[in-house]
Amino acid sequence: SVGVSIRSVSKRYGGTTALDDITLDIEPGEFVSLLGPSGSGKTTLLGALGGFVLPSSGSVWVGDQDMTYMPPHKRNIGVVFQSYALFPHMTVGENVAFPLRARRLPKSTWPERVRQALAMVELDGYQERGISQLSGGQRQRVALARAMVFEPRLILMDEPLSALDKQLRETMQIELRQLHRKLGATIVYVTHDQREALTMSDRVAILKDGRLVQIGTPETLHNEP
Ligand code: ADP
Ligand code: ADP
Repeated sequence: SVGVSIRSVSKRYGGTTALDDITLDIEPGEFVSLLGPSGSGKTTLLGALGGFVLPSSGSVWVGDQDMTYMPPHKRNIGVVFQSYALFPHMTVGENVAFPLRARRLPKSTWPERVRQALAMVELDGYQERGISQLSGGQRQRVALARAMVFEPRLILMDEPLSALDKQLRETMQIELRQLHRKLGATIVYVTHDQREALTMSDRVAILKDGRLVQIGTPETLHNEP
């Protein structure tokens, strides 16, 4: 896993300031949530971390790499979004292997990597299934497996559980925590759900109007007025 350094990052869209001078350091292997209301800049900040939003000023470092200048296939970042964006016409195995194809990893290595990624989310053996045969929770786990299949140094998640019902969401929160321990990957997790952020994260960064207004462990945030 790898550390992340966000240095004085601002992002403007015309007259809108989506991010206003954000500075934040994330330790290797840390699970950090970005918490804040809709429009506070969470998704934009995640995009800057992934290299798909170009900051207006400032820089984003993932390990020793400046994200601003990193071609997509070299970023080595796993992403999981709310709408898991699986390919419905492909099998589970083909979906999980997709990032390997995109990265041009040798085909002979795919089956074992796919098997390991699916085993991580307890879906080994589901390779040949169709996506439509899966439950919502299983689909979300396939999306997780796909994000992990190339052993990314950093995993970015944007409200990955918000489309699930309450019970499944709570189960997946526990699974994600366990997965984080197993992988030891650095995870940045966007949510607008305070309880979710406090239960899951090592640290919570609170955004408001594009500014980082507070950052701390769940314990310190709980104890503040
Ligand atoms: P959040 O994820 O917290 O809901 P966003 O990062 O999506 O917040 O948005 C932050 C602000 O930036 C909002 O005011 C939003 O309307 C604006 N914004 C985000 N993306 C764009 C874009 N591509 N073009 C114009 N404005 C944008
Ligand atoms: P890579 O090809 O190395 O995975 P990309 O920057 O092309 O890196 O995109 C990473 C993933 O994030 C892709 O699955 C892509 O579909 C998705 N993605 C890229 N830009 C956005 C965006 N603005 N909003 C949502 N998803 C995005």
